[in-house]
Amino acid sequence: MKSADLLKRAQFLMPGGVNSPVRSFSAVGLTPPFIAYGGGSRIFDADGREYVDYVCSWGPLILGHAHPTAVEAVERAARDGLSFGAPTEREVEMAELITSALPSMEMIRMVNSGTEAVLSALRLARGCTGRPYIVKFSGCYHGHSDSMLVEAGSGLATAGTPNSAGILPAIASATLVARYNDPDSVRELFAAKGAEIAAVIVEPIAANMGLVPPEPDFLPFLRRVADEYGALLIFDEVISGFRVAYGGAQTLYGVRPDLTVLGKIIGGGLPVGAYGGRRELMRQVAPLGPVYQAGTLAGNPVAMAAGLATLKILQGDPAVYARLEEKGRILAGALRQAAADNGRRVTVHQIGSLLTLFFTPGPVAGYADARQSDTALFARFFESLLARGVYIAPSQFEALFISAAHTDADLRLTIAAAEAAMRELDAPRSGTAD
Ligand SMILES: *Cc1c(COP(=O)(O)O)cnc(C)c1O
Repeated sequence: MKSADLLKRAQFLMPGGVNSPVRSFSAVGLTPPFIAYGGGSRIFDADGREYVDYVCSWGPLILGHAHPTAVEAVERAARDGLSFGAPTEREVEMAELITSALPSMEMIRMVNSGTEAVLSALRLARGCTGRPYIVKFSGCYHGHSDSMLVEAGSGLATAGTPNSAGILPAIASATLVARYNDPDSVRELFAAKGAEIAAVIVEPIAANMGLVPPEPDFLPFLRRVADEYGALLIFDEVISGFRVAYGGAQTLYGVRPDLTVLGKIIGGGLPVGAYGGRRELMRQVAPLGPVYQAGTLAGNPVAMAAGLATLKILQGDPAVYARLEEKGRILAGALRQAAADNGRRVTVHQIGSLLTLFFTPGPVAGYADARQSDTALFARFFESLLARGVYIAPSQFEALFISAAHTDADLRLTIAAAEAAMRELDAPRSGTAD
C-alpha cells in the first residue's frame, strides 16, 4: 500500500501530511490516495488505481491533465530559462490575452496565487479610496490572507471576527461580513459604515460553499450600492474566470467590476494569480503609484507558458464552453434522477462545468442554507464514488470541475457510480477508502 506508506511519512513531516488542508480528506473522515500521474480526465494513484477526476487541481485544469500543448509549451519555456526576474515577452502576451478577454481589466499585475492576488487587490482598494473597511460574504473564500479569514460578528453591522487562530482582532474587525444573495444584509452594512467602506469583494458565482449561483439582481445590486457609496466592486473570479465563459462571470452576467482577481485556469496548472481593473486604479500600483506590491517569481516564464497555452486553446475553440455546459447538464440531471430514484431530497446546482450536489432539499442561496447539508451522507456518497473510481472534492462545500477532456464514457461511468452510491447511502460505512 504505497499511499498508506507515503501518508505515514508525510504526516510525520507535514501538518496533516499535506500542503493544503482539504487534501487530507479530513472532511470526509478518510485518508487520501497519493497521486502519481494524470492524463486527460484520469488520475492514477501510487498504488496504480485509476480515477475519473472531478477535482482537476481544484479548477485550473479545464483542459484536463497534462494537455500535450500545455506540456510542450512548458518544456519549451523551461529550456529557455526557468526565471529571470526581468520583463519577458510572455508576460505582455498574457496581459494582452487577459485584458482582451475581460475588458473591465484595463491593466493587470501577475502574482503567484489567488491569495496573493486578493490581498493585493484589497490593499489597492484601500490605497485608492483611503477607506478602511472591506465587505465580504460569508461562505465566499478569497484565499488565506488575514483580512479574508473572517466570519460575521454577533451583530451584523459589527466588526468581523477571525475564523483562524493567529489573526489580530483589529485586522478582522476591518472586514464586514454580509450574506450572499441577501441585499438587505449589504444595505445594513452600508447604512452603518458606507462612507468608510473601500470595497465589496464577492465571488460572482460562489463556488467555495458548494456552488451557489447569484440570484438575478444580486450582482447588479452590488454594482449599484458600491457606486452609490463610492466603494469599489471586486470580483474574485479565481474560479469563474475562463471557467463559466471565456470572459468569466462578469461577461456571463454583464456586470462590470472595478477590480478583478484571477488565478487557477490562467496558470494552466502552474502557480499563478493576477489582479487588475480600471486603469486609474491600477496606476496607483508601484512603481507608478504609492501602493506597494512585488514578487520575485511573478510573471514567471514557465508559468506564463502554461497559462498562455491554456488560454489560447480556450480562445481558439469558442464551442468549448457549450460542450462543457452540456456535460454539466447531463451530470446534474443524472444526479438529480439518481437521488429521486432513491427517495433522497437533494439540491443540485450547476453552471457550465461547475456542479455541486447538496444533501439538503434546499433552496441553497447562501452559506446558512449550504450548511443544512447532511455532511455525513455526503461523506458516504464520496466514499462510494471513490471506491468506484470517481474522484470528487472531499468536502460537501466544494464544486466538481468538469474538463474538456471528460468523455461521454467518463460521464457514463460517473453516472453509474453515482446511482450505485445513492443506493448504498444507507449501508454501514467501512470507515476507510481502501
Ligand atoms: C482558490 C481560490 C482563491 C485562492 O487561490 P490560491 O491560489 O489557492 O491562493 C481565492 N479565491 C477563490 C474564489 C478561490 O477559489
